[in-house]
Amino acid sequence: MVDQSVRKAAELLKQGASMLSESCPVCNNPLYKLRNGEIVCPIHGKVIIAKDEEEEKRLKRDLLLDSLEETLIESMTSISKRVKEDPMDSDALLQVIRYLDSLERLRKIRSGGRGSEPAR
Ligand SMILES: [Zn+2]
Repeated sequence: MVDQSVRKAAELLKQGASMLSESCPVCNNPLYKLRNGEIVCPIHGKVIIAKDEEEEKRLKRDLLLDSLEETLIESMTSISKRVKEDPMDSDALLQVIRYLDSLERLRKIRSGGRGSEPAR
């Protein structure tokens, strides 16, 4: 993992990118500024740098919600296979419902936090 980021960083420098003093909010690797102005992490690719603490919090929260949503959907996919194999598997069905519920909550949090739109 470390090796990979070092290699990628070297590659970025070769392309004319410059290392920034800021680090990636996710992995803490130094960030690089490409010649077109884009800021990238050697591991995560394009990164948006927060202008202030408030924005940083929001960005971190968005990242967390994104990965949470991904996990939920992945888990739901495997459980939905179980339901397909055995539609009477009430345990699996219950889990699907729980996941759907979590996803709905997640989306509510996401839209509620974006400001202008009132939470429904
Ligand atoms: Zn990163």
